[in-house]
Amino acid sequence: MLTSAMCLAKYGKPELEKAMVLWDVPSHLEIGVIPKRIYCNRDMIAPLTQAFQKLIETGHVKELKTWDGCFNIRNKRGASSASLHSWGVAIDVNSAWNGFGKKPTLSAGFVKCFTDSGFDWGGMWSKPDGMHFQLKNEA
Ligand SMILES: [Zn+2]
Repeated sequence: MLTSAMCLAKYGKPELEKAMVLWDVPSHLEIGVIPKRIYCNRDMIAPLTQAFQKLIETGHVKELKTWDGCFNIRNKRGASSASLHSWGVAIDVNSAWNGFGKKPTLSAGFVKCFTDSGFDWGGMWSKPDGMHFQLKNEA
């Protein structure tokens, strides 16, 4: 799994925002609450494009109720290490129904759109973070 130490080595200090880009989401992907622009890590563009395409193709885009952000320099909830949001390689969705430590409500089909596109899902963790998807470690 991708860790904050790996992100620090690859992208530098979060405050420098070295790998961050303002991605102008193609208009054919702007369905439902998918944003028009996302400030994210450049490495997120290809996997997010694929995940959005899958959400649209499978109809799961209807389940996307809220887009709850990507880049945010902060520590992980309940931990002293930096959240992967600090490097813009994680997103949160439907946070009101998928709170940290609570049972996730996203459907398996919705989750698969992301896990088939290069993301790990926080809903699988021992303390679930069901709103959270982050880039897989490709090393
Ligand atoms: Zn998150």
